[in-house]
Order: sequence, then structure tokens, then C-alpha cells
Amino acid sequence: MGFAPTSERLRAFFYTGATRPVQFRLAQLARLSVALERHEAALLAALHADLGKSPFQGCATELGLVQMEIGHATRSLRRWAAPRKSRTPWFVAPARGWVQPEPFGVALILGPWNYPVQLLLSPLVSAIAAGNCAVLKPSELAPRTAEAVTGMIRDCFDEQFVTAVNGGAGVAEALLRERFDKIFFTGSTRVGRLVMAAAAKHLTPVTLELGGKCPAIVCADAPVELAARRIVWGKFMNAGQTCVAPDFVLVAREARDRFVTAMKSALQNFYGDDPARCVDYGRIVNQQHFERLVNYLPDGKIVLGGRNDAGNLFIAPTILTDVPPGAAVMQEEIFGPILPVLAFDQLDEALALLRDRPTPLALYLFTGDRATEGRVMAEVRSGGVCVNDVVSHMIGSALPFGGLGASGMGAYHGRAGFEAFTHQRAVLRRATWLDLPFRYPPQKLSLAGLKRAMRFLLGD
Ligand code: NAD
Repeated sequence: MGFAPTSERLRAFFYTGATRPVQFRLAQLARLSVALERHEAALLAALHADLGKSPFQGCATELGLVQMEIGHATRSLRRWAAPRKSRTPWFVAPARGWVQPEPFGVALILGPWNYPVQLLLSPLVSAIAAGNCAVLKPSELAPRTAEAVTGMIRDCFDEQFVTAVNGGAGVAEALLRERFDKIFFTGSTRVGRLVMAAAAKHLTPVTLELGGKCPAIVCADAPVELAARRIVWGKFMNAGQTCVAPDFVLVAREARDRFVTAMKSALQNFYGDDPARCVDYGRIVNQQHFERLVNYLPDGKIVLGGRNDAGNLFIAPTILTDVPPGAAVMQEEIFGPILPVLAFDQLDEALALLRDRPTPLALYLFTGDRATEGRVMAEVRSGGVCVNDVVSHMIGSALPFGGLGASGMGAYHGRAGFEAFTHQRAVLRRATWLDLPFRYPPQKLSLAGLKRAMRFLLGD
């Protein structure tokens, strides 16, 4: 390229100070909201073309969630961005101390393909709210959506402020060689490691929103039919291609048959006799993922589904039982419409199995017993927890959303998102009319005297 790297062009704009006033940020969020409405038809059509998402799904799980983030940030921004007063120690008195939330500068946001609008633009809302410039790199695996989002971004923002760059791994790698002030990555654990290694070169702070196998535990005391309905809703939306979808279920053996029957009946109600003809049921993103998923089918006994059609990238909602814990479907993140169901006799057994695995993004527990809830929370780690439901903990802006360990680091949504793109700058301003001499050498106070004084005075 014969011109400055992308990050440098945006940094020049950042240093004009234009993005700092809250008024500017609010105006840009309003522009984004309007652009989402203006480009709604193109975005929904692209989501349908890439992933078979119905307009309802596209609105509910993509555009609508971004609008919710914009609304929440707009209402809260003045409070989030306000300096927070802090106490100062007596020996610097008179002085004022405060925390000044400051934008990092230029943020790089790398998105995945499964919710290609929401997972690119929700972090953008946070980046803008915090006063940053941003470079977006949509996923190449949802190419129509990448193009539609890029068109919308071009239409909405000055390209010195927010810009979108399309392309695959090579383009992402080239961007990662540049110096950004913050990197926000959503995608696989494998690529997350590469992103963090690249960020280390410039010591750029990262938020990593990664994947993993989210378990659901269904205890014998749970309302089994309700658990079945909620689990299949979260599992089979977007044909199972959801980072927080329950990946597999551990169910108390005595409840297993009732649970499986209830899941079958819920799936029948949701998608009818032929899910291939149901507008609410999605498609697998591409041939490679289709083949990867079909290879899991022999890993257990198919008690529902299994039907697939490569030409149409369709895999029916599938339930597997009798799956050995060592099977491939229990090792890798499934990320598709296949749900292994394993029975346990004692909760201990289930918890031991989970403790041996990488930390998941979400943990789902169905029980009416608070003691069981406390035990599971204490013994199994995860990014987030949802008791008696799935997925719902990440909808909306009130709770921070993020992983831990192999499922990521940092969080966003609402205030957590603002903070993910904010440096909490400590500021102390001292008065000049008083300058107590005791800290300056040569020291007149003995060591014992100093310790006595510290005991009295530094308690605060
Ligand atoms: P991915 O890691 O393959 O790709 C994500 C992004 O990284 C894309 O923009 C891609 O172009 C880029 N990329 C690919 N190779 C790269 C490389 N070598 N260097 C730099 N960048 C590279 O992930 P995906 O397949 O798009 O998404 C699926 C994964 O994302 C699943 O593991 C899923 O669980 C996870 N995910 C997590 C969340 C979350 O919020 N935690 C949300 C959605 C998806």
C-alpha cells in the first residue's frame, strides 16, 4: 500500500480530539441506529443468504440486540463517562484525585460469522461510546453480510473515524501487524491465541470472546419439560451455530427418558415434521462445516434427526444418546445442530467430568434446589451462568458477557463494554501553596519515628 496503515489514518483523527466529547459519541450512536434502520432490508437479506436466518431471527438476534445496546449506551453514557472522585492520602494534601475514563484510541474489532452483524456492531457501540475510533473486520465466511455491513458503515461514518475492511485470515493478520490501542476479538480459541500473540508485540490490551463447549446440567428435581423446551430453543436457534448454545447435556439418569421425550416433542412443536421447510430453522454456514458436523453423527445413538442434505447445507435437529465421553463430539466444540445427552447417577460424577475440561463460556443448570446451585457454582468455573434457562444471561446490556480461560478474557455489553474500551486514567492534582518538607532528604525523622507516624496516619 502506498499510503499510511489503516490504524495510523484513524489515529490522526483520534488525536484531533473530535471523538472525546460525549455529544459527539451520542451523535454517532444515533447515526448508527438510523443506519441500521435504513439498511435493515439489505442486512436481513444478507443474513438469510449466508445463514438461512429468517427476518424474525435476524431482527431478534442481530439488529435488535445492537439497537438495545445503542439505547442502553445512549441513556447511560453521561454517567459512565463522568470522572469519578477519589480520596487522596493526607501527605499530599491539599489535593484532588479522580478517575478519568479515557478512550484507548484506535480499536480493532474482529468478528465471527455466526452472528455476523451483532457480534461486530455491539462491540462497535461500546467502542464509540467510550470515544474510540474503530476498524472493523467482518468474517469472510458470511460474505454477503460482510458486504452489507461494510456498505452500511461506509454510509454511516466518516472513514477517518470508523472503517470496515473486508477479507479473510490474511487481511486480519496484516491488520494485527499494525499497532492498535485495543483489540476486541470474537471467534475461535485457536485464532484467539494468535490474536493475543500478535497483540503482545505492541502490548495492546485485548478482549477475547472465544468458544468452547457449554454444558447444561439437568437435575432430577428440575421441571424437566420446561428444561427440555428451553434447552432445545437455545441449542437449535441458528442451527446450533451459537457460541452460548448448550453444547451437550448431562441429565440425571432417572429423568433422562422423560427429558429426551420432552425435547422431541418441543422440537416437533418448534419446527414441525420437516424442519427443512421451516422458515425458522437455519442452515450450516458452508460445506466444510457441514462435513465436520456430519462426521459427528456416528458418535452416538441418533434418537432424533440425523437427516442431512449437503446440497442445501441442512442438518436436522439431532439428539444423540449413548455417547462415550471420549468420542470426538465430546471433545470439540460442536457448533451445529447436534446435541449429545449423557446420563449421570450422582451429581459428583457430572461435576468431575466438567472440572476436567477447559472453562466454558456458559454453564447451564436446571434445578429447584439452591444448595445444588451453590455447589455447582462453587465447583465448576465458567464465563457466565444461567440457572433454569439457557442463553438469556447474555441478552441485553445489564450483565457483563464474556468468557474465562479457554473461553476468553474480558467482557462487554452495557457498562462492561464501555469499560472494555476505556482506560481508567488516574489523575491527582496538588495545590502549590503548601509543600510540607518531611519527604525531602536529608531525613530528620528516625526509622522508628517514621513507622509510628505511618501507623497513625497511613491507615487511611
Ligand atoms: P474464527 O476464529 O475462525 O474467525 C474469527 C475471525 O478471525 C474472522 O474475522 C476471521 O477472518 C479471523 N481470522 C481467521 N484466521 C485468522 C488468523 N490466522 N489470524 C487472525 N485472524 C484470523 O471463528 P469463527 O469460525 O468465525 O467463529 C466461530 C467461533 O467463534 C466458535 O468457536 C464460537 O464459539 C466462537 N464465538 C464466540 C463468541 C463469544 O461471544 N464468545 C461468539 C460467537 C462465536
